Amino acid sequence: MRVGFFVFGGSMIISMRPHATRQEIDHVCERIREFGYKVHSIEGEERVVIGAVGMGDVTACLESLEATPGVERAMRISAPYKFVSKEFKPGRSVIKVNGLEIGGDEFIVMAGPCSVESEEQIMRTAESVAAAGARVLRGGAFKPRTSPYDFQGLELEGLKLLRKAKQATGLGIVTEIMSDRDVGLVAEYADCMQVGARNMQNFALLKSLGSCGRTVLLKRGMSSTVKELLMSAEYITAHGNPNVILCERGIRTFETATRNTCDISAIPVLNEMTHLPVILDPSHAAGKRSLVPALARAGVAAGADGLLVEVHPCPEKAVSDGAQSLALEDFRELMRSLDPYIRLWKEARAAESVAV
Ligand code: PEP
Ligand code: MN
Repeated sequence: MRVGFFVFGGSMIISMRPHATRQEIDHVCERIREFGYKVHSIEGEERVVIGAVGMGDVTACLESLEATPGVERAMRISAPYKFVSKEFKPGRSVIKVNGLEIGGDEFIVMAGPCSVESEEQIMRTAESVAAAGARVLRGGAFKPRTSPYDFQGLELEGLKLLRKAKQATGLGIVTEIMSDRDVGLVAEYADCMQVGARNMQNFALLKSLGSCGRTVLLKRGMSSTVKELLMSAEYITAHGNPNVILCERGIRTFETATRNTCDISAIPVLNEMTHLPVILDPSHAAGKRSLVPALARAGVAAGADGLLVEVHPCPEKAVSDGAQSLALEDFRELMRSLDPYIRLWKEARAAESVAV
């Protein structure tokens, strides 16, 4: 509601300076309450961020806060997702995984098997995908399976094998986290914690990942809207962890020719709505290996920041998702075929940073 030059109601985000004192933080909270707002303060590892919701005079409150000691930035945010919105941060966020920058000027390919199955399997895959140009190794040690009788993952043994593969190749590790109980354990081994489609709205897990600090790869739920994906990302950031990468992996539609429908438009849509990086998983979208290269190229062209691809040394023997996994040679071929697309992608990114 607008009244004259003043805006009443809505929410604000107040970012405190990294070393703001307790006294400064308390004072800011007090000022916000005086303006008629409820305060929700989030203590991150680096800084305190204060959310304010209510029906006070936003314009006057923001003006006052900007002049209050300890405040770095105070702003009104109209989107329901706040920290992840473009309003909060225009442009792109660069998120680190094992020293690599996702969302920057490199297109990052993550590849590996659906499940970690054995030492031989993960080592062979890691060496092969690294040689082909992948920068991060994927592999599930904790597997979310539709049937309780299916392989559930090697768990700790799988995490140890991923570490071994990392030591041998230098690849970063992305692996799935399924329960808030395992956050500490998985964070010891993973450079990036994958939240699978089935857990996108596991709010207890999202909150634990928020207090953990390790980079999170958040996959879109198979029946979730883009807005719901952003609200889940907001859970992680609102609880103190800004290091989130989003992943489109296909959604459920009436179409049965593919396992899921690759929502390619989610990539430019997300790029308009959020500063977080967005990658595409063409494997789970397709469900069929012959379709993976075309979807992968579409992802690069649509402006994704990277890809997550399932690769297996012997797909027909894979314990999970063999039908959509590329053999090692198929993956090498895919990487070669992506080259000209990635060159154009880099030109587009370079032009973007000149324009900014
Ligand atoms: C996976 O990456 O192997 C996986 C289970 O993906 P999703 O959660 O997207 O189904
Ligand atoms: Mn899989």
